[in-house]
Amino acid sequence: VELWQDVPLAPPDSIFQLTAAYKADTFKDKVNLGVGAYRDNDNKPWVLPVVKKATSILLNDEALDHEYLPITGLAEFTNAAAKLILGSHSPAIKEGRTVSVQTISGTGANHLGALFLSKFYKWNGPARIYLSNPTWDAERWLANHHAIFRNVGIEPVEYAYYDPKTIGLDFDGFIDALKTAPERSVFLLHACAHNPTGVDPTTEQWKAIAEVIAAKKHYTFFDCAYQGFASGDLDKDAWAVRYFVELGLPLLVCQSFAKNAGLYGERVGALHLVSPNTETANRVKSQLSVLQRSEISNPPSHGARLVSLILNDARLFEEWKRDIETMAGRIIEMRRELHRLLTEKLHTPGNWDHIVNQIGMFSFTGINPAQSKALVEKGHIYLTGNGRISMAGLNTHNIEYFGSQLDAVVR
Ligand code: PMP
Repeated sequence: VELWQDVPLAPPDSIFQLTAAYKADTFKDKVNLGVGAYRDNDNKPWVLPVVKKATSILLNDEALDHEYLPITGLAEFTNAAAKLILGSHSPAIKEGRTVSVQTISGTGANHLGALFLSKFYKWNGPARIYLSNPTWDAERWLANHHAIFRNVGIEPVEYAYYDPKTIGLDFDGFIDALKTAPERSVFLLHACAHNPTGVDPTTEQWKAIAEVIAAKKHYTFFDCAYQGFASGDLDKDAWAVRYFVELGLPLLVCQSFAKNAGLYGERVGALHLVSPNTETANRVKSQLSVLQRSEISNPPSHGARLVSLILNDARLFEEWKRDIETMAGRIIEMRRELHRLLTEKLHTPGNWDHIVNQIGMFSFTGINPAQSKALVEKGHIYLTGNGRISMAGLNTHNIEYFGSQLDAVVR
């Protein structure tokens, strides 16, 4: 018998499939709104000027070699990364109770965090993770968050999040899920710029969420893939995480530099776990090291060196903030322009305020799967079936075309 005859053929990843279909399309005005990466106004990937500078500094550094990094990564990078997300005056950092480990970007941080929980979390009942409905990525049950936790034997269950009726947050449903989950449940929360909906809680709603989490002693698994990229302001986008730390809620944070530094392929990220004291932090760190050793031995150096240079040099850091504003600003401008086109120029039926109220790279347009399909087939506009568009795929050259096609499919 053939050894692998019972291996079923897995469906291709829907996002990568969408990109392939876009590439194969010869229509000259085709638009790719599926991709989860920043594009400039000419639809080109953007190497941040600050990253170019940091790269040339590295290239000219005669002392650099290609030795292994420590198991937990480059300390200058992880220390600065912790300050970036938790705040430079964070009590958790000052008191030496934050554990930071360099990971294979945000995905690796999610995996390592999940693996650690699967081994050491004191589950109250079966090992379960509560995930927002929907969550990263586009397809519900094939979503990466689901797969990451399932891979380590943690069962994903969903909590109410998105309300298709309002194209906004199902706040009551969310609070209800927090209240009805058993005590000490683990909830994954998107720190900012929720993927795929672009719908975030307001400050007041975050406060109410934190209150229930505290009352029910839940554990928060923060996923932060878009710090700075969402609002253009690194501190603003870290607000929820810092607020939870201030309240003393137990949590970990997965951090990615893919989007905010445009370092997608370099796989730069970190896992930060805030523990009650230094002694616990040391024990947690020792076990994270053991897990990391068998998974990847030690993380890659190049991207971490780049980010470390940027975070630890005041001038480069200021320049990075300007680059982030450039990216976030262009996306916010596209939101405003699309909203203007639909409401003032085309008088498209329905309310489109969600386009400007949502935040980050993605927007849930609220269109149905048939309308999404029509956009692909008739308009050569590539987007996922759930009606999610990447705002980064819009620019001053194609936004009128997209607006008119969207208008046509909803009429
Ligand atoms: N979490 C969320 C919510 C994301 O959207 C992403 C990127 N699409 C990631 C994690 C991780 O991405 P990466 O591994 O490229 O950092």
